[in-house]
Amino acid sequence: MRPSLRFLRLPVPRLLVLVAALAGARTGDAQAGRDWPIHSNERPKPPVVDPGPGALPVPPPGDAVVLFDGRDLSKWVHGNGDPARWIVRDGSFEVRPGTGDLQTRDGFGDAQLHVEWMTPDPPRGTGQDRGNSGVFLMGRYEVQVLDSYGNETYADGQAAAQYGQFPPLVNASRPPGVWQSYDIIFRGPRFDAAGRLLRPATVTVLHNGVLVQDHVTLTGPTGHYARPPYEAHPERLPIRLQDHAHPVRFRNIWLRELR
Ligand code: MG
Repeated sequence: MRPSLRFLRLPVPRLLVLVAALAGARTGDAQAGRDWPIHSNERPKPPVVDPGPGALPVPPPGDAVVLFDGRDLSKWVHGNGDPARWIVRDGSFEVRPGTGDLQTRDGFGDAQLHVEWMTPDPPRGTGQDRGNSGVFLMGRYEVQVLDSYGNETYADGQAAAQYGQFPPLVNASRPPGVWQSYDIIFRGPRFDAAGRLLRPATVTVLHNGVLVQDHVTLTGPTGHYARPPYEAHPERLPIRLQDHAHPVRFRNIWLRELR
């Protein structure tokens, strides 16, 4: 007699999702269960971890490329090449809602990237509509910026999520109005001359010094309610910061190119 799971009355794909979810829940690993539907509200929320007081800003190492030193946005432009119109003040810069995303003038590939950011205080809105921005590696692969301090949203869309793919291992968010940091180690994808994927991108992220993305392998570029496949692109592309219509601030951005 063949074994049967018909008593569960679930089609096989739903059953696989359930099994993956149970496996993730048992290990307490928010990055387990990669078959979760995108932006699922059922996906377990990462546990909250107090990152401690920290010590920001972190000065750039000697071999770093400084992308914002507190003075001007000369290293940044809008997508159409226009000079950056976000607001520079007090050694930081702030999203000017409606002006569009900013991106670096230069392109970068594999890199160690340091970014400091702060969400608005007092906070406004809920879920995704609260202190939302993002760091898009190569303009395509988003590490989510969001006010996730006591603010629930789907796990793969909270602060330090690899948006739509991997929730952070823990929620190490600081309150709104307090500087936070991302330290990102990114290895871009590689394609052959015919545009076939040779190697997917990998990302490691520390949020306020706490490991939140542990060398995850990206499924492809970031999408909203979509996980599109990889498309061949150059090995160096601009880093992009998102205008999500919220006055999120940034400062002290630097990177070390990894050869
Ligand atoms: Mg975002």
